[in-house]
Amino acid sequence: MVERNKGQVIFVGAGPGDPELLTLKGKRVLETADRVIYAGSLVNPVILNYCREGIPLYDSAGLTLEDTLRIMIEGVEHGETVVRLHTGDPSVYGAIQEQMEPLEQRGISYSVIPGVSSVFAAAASVKREFTLPEVSQTVILTRLAGRTPVPEKESLAELAKHQASMAIFLSVQDMSRVVQELLTGYAPETPVAVVYRASWEDEQKVIGTLATIEEKVKQAGIRKQAQILVGDFLNSHQGLRSKLYDPEFSHEYRLGQKS
Ligand code: SAH
Repeated sequence: MVERNKGQVIFVGAGPGDPELLTLKGKRVLETADRVIYAGSLVNPVILNYCREGIPLYDSAGLTLEDTLRIMIEGVEHGETVVRLHTGDPSVYGAIQEQMEPLEQRGISYSVIPGVSSVFAAAASVKREFTLPEVSQTVILTRLAGRTPVPEKESLAELAKHQASMAIFLSVQDMSRVVQELLTGYAPETPVAVVYRASWEDEQKVIGTLATIEEKVKQAGIRKQAQILVGDFLNSHQGLRSKLYDPEFSHEYRLGQKS
């Protein structure tokens, strides 16, 4: 069978902001791209410098899904490699499914290169581990319902009942609702960290508890582009240790010693 063309679309996670948090693979693909569609509101434009000079660059901020698909398909029909740059990791609130399915239906080949999500940049910024033994072994990634609805069984109030480690996207503009819903499950003294533009030069951090965070975020003037991290994992837990590195614990690569 003769291939009609060799065009393809590659979805790339641009990382949370710091250009050095783009993967090596993402960088390599950008260097070979024939056209790039990027999410201008959150992708650091510095990484577009990896692109060859003169290739068309489209900011998706002003585009509809239909516009984006048209630009992609046009490139693919010319045999081009089209890169679609998404902030953080594309699989989290990236709206990539609605792009991939029409490509699939047209038999266009596409692939996805993961990226560092802002949730991990935020955890790095506050120097904490989400999954602490005896504290929480679960991370919930979620958001408040906004213009995009959230299924009722996943409301913040419902999820809060687990008292797991939680990262809330797309919600800092409504801290009062976030706090109100979280208080259904977590205690008022539960620590909260709000990280604005994690890994960017103008990153800002606000640390508090469910009782104090709303006022602190207001004082700091943070209204968008922030991660809200919630849970006891944010406390310092000196002395807690994992099984994996316990001298008495045996596993595939190490025989434990009896004390
Ligand atoms: N796919 C992205 C999320 C896109 S949704 C990712 O993996 O990070 C956009 C939301 O992500 C923002 O409203 C904010 O909640 C969060 N976000 C994106 N970049 C951020 C950053 N650098 N610091 C903190 N939050 C960020």
